[in-house]
Amino acid sequence: MRKRIFQSICLACFITLVLSTVCITGVIYNDLAKELKKEVENQAMYISKAIESADDAREYILAIGKESKNRITLISSDGTVIYDNYVPAEKLENHLSRPEIQAAIFYGEGELTRLSETLGEKTYYYAVHLKSGMVLRVACTVKSIFGLMKGVAFWIVLISFVILFISTLIARIITNLIIRPINNLNLNDPLSNDTYEELSPLLTRMEKQNRKIKSQFDELSARQKEFDYITGSMNEGLIIFGENATVLSANKSAKKVLGNILGRSYLQACRDVNFIKAVESALGGRSFVIKTNINGRVYQLSANPVESNLKSYAAVLFIIDITDKEQAEKMRYEFSANVSHELKTPLTSILGYAEIIEKGIAKKEDISRFAKQIHTEAARLLTLIDDIIRLSRLDEGNLIQEVEKVELSGLCKSVIDELSEKAKNKNVKVSFEGGPAAVLGYRSVLHEMVYNLCDNAIKYNKGNGSVIVKLEDENNKIKLSVFDTGVGIAPCHHGRIFERFYRVDKSHSKDTGGTGLGLSIVKHAALLHDAKISLESRPDVGTTITIVFNKK
Ligand code: ADP
Repeated sequence: MRKRIFQSICLACFITLVLSTVCITGVIYNDLAKELKKEVENQAMYISKAIESADDAREYILAIGKESKNRITLISSDGTVIYDNYVPAEKLENHLSRPEIQAAIFYGEGELTRLSETLGEKTYYYAVHLKSGMVLRVACTVKSIFGLMKGVAFWIVLISFVILFISTLIARIITNLIIRPINNLNLNDPLSNDTYEELSPLLTRMEKQNRKIKSQFDELSARQKEFDYITGSMNEGLIIFGENATVLSANKSAKKVLGNILGRSYLQACRDVNFIKAVESALGGRSFVIKTNINGRVYQLSANPVESNLKSYAAVLFIIDITDKEQAEKMRYEFSANVSHELKTPLTSILGYAEIIEKGIAKKEDISRFAKQIHTEAARLLTLIDDIIRLSRLDEGNLIQEVEKVELSGLCKSVIDELSEKAKNKNVKVSFEGGPAAVLGYRSVLHEMVYNLCDNAIKYNKGNGSVIVKLEDENNKIKLSVFDTGVGIAPCHHGRIFERFYRVDKSHSKDTGGTGLGLSIVKHAALLHDAKISLESRPDVGTTITIVFNKK
């Protein structure tokens, strides 16, 4: 704009300069020519009067002709040139046919202007008819306007350049003055500007547009915030791919899995083959669901195309963490397999012994032993079924009883009482340490928990060993520990002994009537009471299992 204004001003100056030069030159030249004409006419009149009153016209004209800078010609009535102060009269042809002479003979005076383009001159002739019948002609030659211009062309060009240079400087200053208010416009608040009136409609429109843009922007940010809030609180990862297969948006959960992938192409976002397959399929217009393993966790990827006018141009990918679900599935599968196996073993023995007795193959003295065996296996089966039912109830949280305040010291003492016979048989001394400590919980579940811990502590103890059940009430926590001086557990088993059906020594556990579910029940019971369970054990030294309850 600045350039345009500057150029326009310069052009206007140039045109003005040229026009004014031409006009002024024309006017002055015209004026000069008029003056000249008048002078020539006056001279012709004076000379004609003088000739008419002079005694010797020829003498007089000779004297005047020498002095005059104008051309003076005296022509006889037949057109013969009598005298000419520029050219000898005899060399001149007859002038009768000349228009100014003809006019002078007919009208008393005649004039003619002749232009010589080659010489760039203009000659003005003025002829007067004398009373004697002769014709006096006075002529004056001046440069034509072009000739005049030619002569002063250098000065005209020089002056024009100077004027143009000054005009350029002025044009620059004027341009700056015009542009400055436009440059200083406050576009954020267009109506606050005190500027050219002509800009008012533009500024009003700008103000309207600013308001519209602001309201649209506010709406968009509100929507974006809403979208971020919704997707940010989602557990599922959400990634939106644009038309060019780059990540347009990724929520917090997606970034947790894949890092900051904003702006990256899907190939750079994740190298996982299934991820690439899913995104490519959705970008190609087909939905795709697949499970995959990323950083040791299992995810379900669900990719869907985003379509517009039946042309697929983007994709949305959901990433759902199904690691826990998968683990639970696996555990359920293993549990059912283990349950069938565990049930099968005692049932096979029972069937075997019963068959021998039924078919009369068993010797009479063995029948009572076999019956005892059937009894033991059936009891084991019952214990196993009881444990499975308990565990399932804990698993499902399917408990009929209400939460109550349970005094753990009394509960521990009653468990010790229940197991005293067993302890006596194993020659293990069981004792209780600590004072009263109550927790909020399910009495039967807590009883089961303490019972299983003490039962194990006796079961896996050595002769003359001891078991201590200790209760501590400190720092808003209640700590229940069961120490034993038993066989202990090797460190390699520590991570697994709370798993269902996991036993360190299978044969020994079965001999002692273990189902492999005792500690699993303890773990679930602890979880149900929001308590933390920990294990310390050294082979041949003993084991301590501690459960820490939060006091409520
Ligand atoms: P089980 O019914 O076989 O006792 P548990 O779930 O109660 O099953 O225990 C799992 C395994 O942990 C047991 O087989 C046993 O090897 C080991 N274990 C549990 N408690 C003790 C303990 N106090 N001392 C030594 N080993 C133990």
